[in-house]
Parts: sequence; structure tokens; C-alpha cells
Amino acid sequence: MATAQQEVERSAAIEIDDGSATRDARGEWRPRILGKALPFRWPVQPRELFRFFLGFPGFLWPFGAAAHYGLAAATWRFLQPGSGQLSHFSHLSAGWIVPMYLRNLVMLLLVAGTLHIILYWRRLQGTRFKYNSRWPGTHSKIFLFNNQVRDNMFWSLASGATIWTVYEVLMLWAYGNGWLSFITLYSNPVWFVVLAIILPFWQDVHFYIVHRISHWKPLYDAAHYLHHRNTNVGPWSGLSMHPIEHILYFSRWVILFVVPSHPIHMFYLMQRPALNPALGHTGFDRILLKKDADRGMSVDSYFHYLHHRYFECNYGTITVPLDRWLGSLHDGTPESLERMRRKRRIPAE
Ligand SMILES: [Zn+2]
Ligand SMILES: [Zn+2]
Repeated sequence: MATAQQEVERSAAIEIDDGSATRDARGEWRPRILGKALPFRWPVQPRELFRFFLGFPGFLWPFGAAAHYGLAAATWRFLQPGSGQLSHFSHLSAGWIVPMYLRNLVMLLLVAGTLHIILYWRRLQGTRFKYNSRWPGTHSKIFLFNNQVRDNMFWSLASGATIWTVYEVLMLWAYGNGWLSFITLYSNPVWFVVLAIILPFWQDVHFYIVHRISHWKPLYDAAHYLHHRNTNVGPWSGLSMHPIEHILYFSRWVILFVVPSHPIHMFYLMQRPALNPALGHTGFDRILLKKDADRGMSVDSYFHYLHHRYFECNYGTITVPLDRWLGSLHDGTPESLERMRRKRRIPAE
């Protein structure tokens, strides 16, 4: 039952949403049909592919692959104790491990915290472009501390940042001992670049596989349910997962035991899944860069929002079309919703 305050916010939201009737009777904002945002369609649309991969915002910028490779390179060059000599990592030592843990905590706090402060604490754009017009619950027994945001922060920082760091430490330890095949941009420039191009797609395939497995009932009941308590997501929901799920989710490093790589590739593989979920779970379709702007910057989170809304769809990402090929795509169209209802017996609204 909505409170009077929620009703006021809801009706205000309907009035200011670009003057178009984008909120339905339940107060949900349905931004656009996803079809055109999906890069791989048949027949192939070269212009859309080009725009998706090289446009702004897009696959590379401002939060995509290129930005994350930049962050990975900066981390290795400036923020990694011992990066001057690989043998430094041959022995596990608090001297280089503790700064890594602190670094990762600060990175996560900066990214998820900043989005949370702007969108949810200060509420600088109100409910404009917010999919669900309600705000996260502060009196819900399903969350730790009865508070969704604090619960989400706990799992993200205590479990997420820890397992992320443990994996980075183990990878550097493996490089230091020669258990991983090491290359540099100068020793193997072609493979260095080719691997950098392969990894974003490998990440999306790995995410799809792990996520699909996580919906297998025993694993869902043991671990993935924890992430899915968040039907009305916020930036801290992104990495709010059970430790078992974190172990699986970050395990994309396995590819480094198959192909030669550099720690920059490894940091890219680990940092992107740690930091990007905050963006993918903002709960907003766009972020307004100026208070009264008509159009904000798209953060492309609708695809995954639909997964949180309807569960049995959109397991992957929009980049790799596995959901389309394997019949689990929900592209936001009424036909798609109808298909989901028939298949999953979702009650009519
Ligand atoms: Zn899921
Ligand atoms: Zn999610």
C-alpha cells in the first residue's frame, strides 16, 4: 500500500517525465523498447553496430572497456605496490596485500557511493528516469538491519570487495611464481591487444553461464536469492551477493590459465565486474548531468532491471546475444512480456 508521500512523488514523476506517458498505472517508468539498443540483430544493422561499439556512450566509453583498461593500467602503474618487479609477488606478504584491499574498498566506495549519494541520498533528479518510483525500503525484514541500502553495502564491502581482492592477490602470486604465462605490450604487442579485445566478450559469456547456473534451484536457494531480494535496485545492489555467488561471479580469471596475459588484463577482468554493477543497478535509465536537462546520459541498465523485475529473462548483457539465441530475451516490448507470462505463468497486472 503506497503512503501519501509516495503517491505525491508518483504523480509528480508522471508530470515531469518529458511530457510523455512513460509511467504505467503502477508507477513504473518504461523507458523505451530495447530492440534498438541491442547491437546484434538479424539482419545485421552495420550502422547500429558501429554506433554501439564506437559511439558515446557506448561499448568503449565512458564506463565501458576502454575506460576500464585505462583504470587497470593506472592501477598497475601507480596503485600497485611492487609492480616494478614481478618476483615481488612470489611470496604472499601483508606489505602488498593490505594496500590492495584498501584500494579496492576505496574504489567501490567511490563508484557505488557517489552514485548512491547523487541519486538516492540527495535525490538530485528526484524520480526522473527512475524505473520504479518507490525508494529502497528502510523497514523491511528481508534485509539485514531492516534496511536495503545498509544490507547491500554490507554484502558488497564485506564479501564482494574481499573475494575480489583475494582473487587479485592469488593472480599476482601466480604471475610472481611463473604459474601464469606472462607477456608485455613490448614482448607480444599483437597478442596483448587481441586478448584485450577478446576479454570483454569472454566476460559477458562467463557472466551469462554463471548467472544461468545460479538460477538452478539449489544454487538459487543457497546463494542467488540474496541478490534477488532487490527487486527495486540501487547502486549498492549491484555487488550485493552471497559469498558463494561472489566466488563464481569473479571466477572469470580462469581464462588467464589458458592464455598468456599481463596483470593489466587481470585487473581489467577483476575491476570491471566489481565496479560496473553499481551503474547497471542504478535503477535509473539516465543520469542527468544538469539539473533541468531534458535528456540525461544513458546508463543502459534497463536490460538487467528487467531481469530483477521478471527473474527468468535477460541473464546476460546486451553485448553478447546469448539471451536472444537461447530464448530468454525480454526486450521490453509488450509482445516480450506476453511471451514471458505464457512461459513462466506470470500473473497479469
Ligand atoms: Zn538472477
Ligand atoms: Zn542484478
